Amino acid sequence: MGDSDDSKKPPKSVEEVQKELQDFIKDKFGGNVMAFPMGPGGMGAQPSEELAGDTEDEVEVPAIPAEALSFDMTPRQVKSYLDRYVIGQGDAKRTLAVAICDHYNHVRRSLSTDVVGPGAAAAESGSVSHESPFETSVDYVKQNLILLGPTGVGKTYLVRILAQLIGVPFVKADVTKFSETGYVGGDVEDLVRELVRTADGNVQLASHGIVFLDEVDKIASARTAQGRDPSGRGVQVGLLKLMEETEVSLRSPMDLSAQFQDMMQMRKGGAGQNTINTKHILFVVSGAFSGIAEIIEKRLSERNVGFGAAAKSREPDALSDALLPSATTKDFVEYGFEPEFIGRLPVRVALNELDADDLYRILATSEGSILRQYRQNFADYGIEIAFEDDALRAVAREAADEKTGARGLMSVLERCLREFKFYLPGGPIRRLAMTTDVVDDPKAALEAVRGDGQAAESVYWNALVREFENEFARRNGVKLSLDEEAVGMAVTLAGEIGVTVKEYLWTTFDEHVDFLRKIVETSGKTELPVTPQVLSKPGSGLEVWM
Ligand code: ADP
Repeated sequence: MGDSDDSKKPPKSVEEVQKELQDFIKDKFGGNVMAFPMGPGGMGAQPSEELAGDTEDEVEVPAIPAEALSFDMTPRQVKSYLDRYVIGQGDAKRTLAVAICDHYNHVRRSLSTDVVGPGAAAAESGSVSHESPFETSVDYVKQNLILLGPTGVGKTYLVRILAQLIGVPFVKADVTKFSETGYVGGDVEDLVRELVRTADGNVQLASHGIVFLDEVDKIASARTAQGRDPSGRGVQVGLLKLMEETEVSLRSPMDLSAQFQDMMQMRKGGAGQNTINTKHILFVVSGAFSGIAEIIEKRLSERNVGFGAAAKSREPDALSDALLPSATTKDFVEYGFEPEFIGRLPVRVALNELDADDLYRILATSEGSILRQYRQNFADYGIEIAFEDDALRAVAREAADEKTGARGLMSVLERCLREFKFYLPGGPIRRLAMTTDVVDDPKAALEAVRGDGQAAESVYWNALVREFENEFARRNGVKLSLDEEAVGMAVTLAGEIGVTVKEYLWTTFDEHVDFLRKIVETSGKTELPVTPQVLSKPGSGLEVWM
C-alpha cells in the first residue's frame, strides 16, 4: 500500500478498497480472521457511509434506552419475578437479586454523577468513563458472581432472565475456548465486543451488560507432580483485568479491515469512540466444581471432628448441596484458582440439584416451561395438545434419573412425542392428550390415537379440563373436580358461545373464588365436585356443596 504511488492515481471507490483489503487479508491469513464484522460500524455494515468522510460520530453512541436506566426494583421484587420462571433455587435467587440490585443501583448512581461530574467531559470526548467523585471516595467492590452447581439446574437461565429484566445485553461463552495466549477459539476481549454487537452497537448499554463464563472450573490449575498446570492460570490472569476495569478496543486486533478503517478515520480527523470500559460490566462465572465439596468437607472436618462422619453418611448429591454454599476463598484457591481471580468474584451462589418434584413443577408451573414450546410445535399444524398431570410426573421422574437437571425434560419429552410430531401433522387428528400411556410406550400410544381419533379426542378434553382444575387450584387454593358429564357439558357450552373450554371454565368459576374458598374452609372438603347441575347454575349450584 505505497502512499506515494497512490497519490498519482484517481481515488479508488469504497468497493475497490474493500475488495483489495479482503483479498489481502485472505491471502495473508486464510479464513482465520474476521475480515468484515457483522456489528454496526463494521465495514460490512455500512461501507459507503463509513469511508465517505462523515467524520462526526463515526461509531455512534446512542443514548441508553430508558429501561436500562430506570431499573429500580427492590431485591424482593426481583426475586418474585424470578419465581415466575425459575423453580426452586431460593437461596440463589435471593443472593442474585441482592447482587443485581446493588450492581445496577451503583451503575445508575454513577451514571447520574457522570452527567454533572468529571465523567461528563470524558463521555463527550468519546470514552465511556464513569469516574465520579462519589466512586473515588467510596471503594466500590463490583458484585461479580460465581455460580456453583450441576448442569441444567438454572445457572444460565437465572442470569439470562435477569439481563432481560434489566434490559442489558447478555453474552455467554465457555471459558475452555480461551487459551493463555488468546486465539485458540477467541480472545477474552472478544466477549466484550460481543456485548456491543448484542446491544446493536450501543456501546454505553454494552458497558452495563452481563458476561457469563461457563465451565470456569476447567481453568482451575490442577496440581500436578511438576506443580501447577500453567495454562488455566494464564486464562485466569487474562480475565482478571477484564473483570476489574480495562479499556477494550471495539475492534478486534485480528480484524484488520476494521483497523484499517479506523486508520482512515483518524487521518480524516474522525474521533469516534473506539474503546469500551469494562468497569460496569457484570461478570458471572459458573461451573459444576466437582470435587470442591470434598475440599470443603476436609476443611470443615479438620475444624469439627464430628462433621466429617455425618457428611460421609449422605448421598454424594446431598453432600454437594449441603456443602457448596460454605465454599470459601480458601477452598477455591485449594481447588486451583488464583487468590486474585477469586477475589474479583465476591458473590458466591450455590445451586441445588433438581429432584423429580422440582422438574415436575418446572413443566407444570414455570412461565418458561418447555411445554409451551411443544404446544406451539403442534399448534403450528393445527393440532391441540393437553398434558395429563400424571404424565408430567412420569416425565419428571424419568428426567431426574438422567441427572442432567432440567435438560433431561427435553430429552424425555422428545422421546415421547417425536413420532407424534412426525405422523400427526397433515392427518385427521386435531386433538391429542399426552397421557402416561404415551410416556410408557409412545409407539403403541400413537397407534391407538391414529386408530380411534374420537376416543383420543375425549381423552384430550378430559386432560384439558384437568389442566384447568390444576391451574385453578394453584392460583386459588381450591380444587374443583368436574365429573365426566360436566366435562362433556363444558365442551358443548364453550363450543356454543365460541370460547375455549378453559376460557369458559375460568369465567364460570373465577367470579366465585371467594365463595369457593369459604366453602372449602367451612366444609373441610379438599375437593369440590362439579356436576352438570353446578356448572349450569354456578350461583345456586354451589349450594349443593353446602
Ligand atoms: P445450567 O445450570 O447448566 O446453566 P441452564 O440454566 O442453561 O442450566 O438450564 C437449561 C434449561 O433448563 C433452561 O433454559 C431452563 O429452560 C431449564 N431450567 C433449568 N433450571 C431450571 C429451574 N430451576 N427452573 C426452571 N427452569 C429451569
